[in-house]
Amino acid sequence: MSVIYHERYLDHVQSWGHPESPERLKAIIAKLGEASFEAGIITPKPATPSELELVHTSEYIDMMKNFGEGYMDPDTYHHDDTYEIACLAAGGGLLAGTLAFDEHRPTFVIPRPPGHHATAMSSGGFCYFNNIAVAAEALLSRKKLPAKRVAIIDLDVHHGNGTHDIFFHRKDVLYISTHQWGIYPGTGHRELVGVKKGEGYTVNIPFNSGAGDRSFELAYQQVIEPIILQYKPSIILVSIGTDAHYRDPLADLALSSNGYLDLARNILKLSSRVCRSNTAFFLEGGYDVDVLAEIVTGIVATFDSHDYELEFTKKVDSDCVGEDALNYVIEVQKEYWEL
Ligand SMILES: [Zn+2]
Repeated sequence: MSVIYHERYLDHVQSWGHPESPERLKAIIAKLGEASFEAGIITPKPATPSELELVHTSEYIDMMKNFGEGYMDPDTYHHDDTYEIACLAAGGGLLAGTLAFDEHRPTFVIPRPPGHHATAMSSGGFCYFNNIAVAAEALLSRKKLPAKRVAIIDLDVHHGNGTHDIFFHRKDVLYISTHQWGIYPGTGHRELVGVKKGEGYTVNIPFNSGAGDRSFELAYQQVIEPIILQYKPSIILVSIGTDAHYRDPLADLALSSNGYLDLARNILKLSSRVCRSNTAFFLEGGYDVDVLAEIVTGIVATFDSHDYELEFTKKVDSDCVGEDALNYVIEVQKEYWEL
């Protein structure tokens, strides 16, 4: 599995004590090195303005370029070099999507800044350009052998409001999100299913606090896998935040590291069934750096069929806290899919 990373990602800083810090990627790179996976790291080029314009308005791109120093929202600071590094993050996503799609090999891009809260014309939630949306649009719109349909699975604990809004009216992109209900950004209600031609192609799975491995396993078996099998995407892109882990300081879901790896394994198997193993993982959030490093390294190891011992595997959620929430989602989605 190729890991896509650029050293400049470490130069992106928010403010002192901010959870979205360079330490996150330093921990991942160190852990990949310990497990001897650093050899597979590939360096991307920056996305160009015309590539960003596949998703973002030219006014917003110009604003990003010229904003200077200051807060774009209370959690999202803009420095003089933010535009350049955000272009490299989006470029990492473009490379991850292209390699996965053209060479049928799974990729994992670990960009900073992350992307799934960025809309077509706004930043927010530590995000500036929507890396996964830019990658999806590039595959759909390219001249040579374009993708017909892209599925995006968003496993970050926060709802990916940016990706959700960008594709809410579209049927060539299926957006499925698991998230904790009631936290930032406050969006992702289960009855929001897309509009116009996009109706039925947005699947929101909001969980209450405490939902963990068993709830996610059921969500995978009863909603995610059956819908992807029916949708038949050309590629599966995954927004993976490790902030749904029980140790994460910013939220209250309860996935274990095992739970994450099971989901990743299932998605890889699913991609080999429906789309020639075309799958790319995009790092979003995750603020316990030890958990973050072990999950990313664990996924890379799993994909390469190496054993990797996990530390944070405390099993919780044997009562399946999310079952009622999931049953409600199934009722809503039955109108569009056989579930
Ligand atoms: Zn998050």
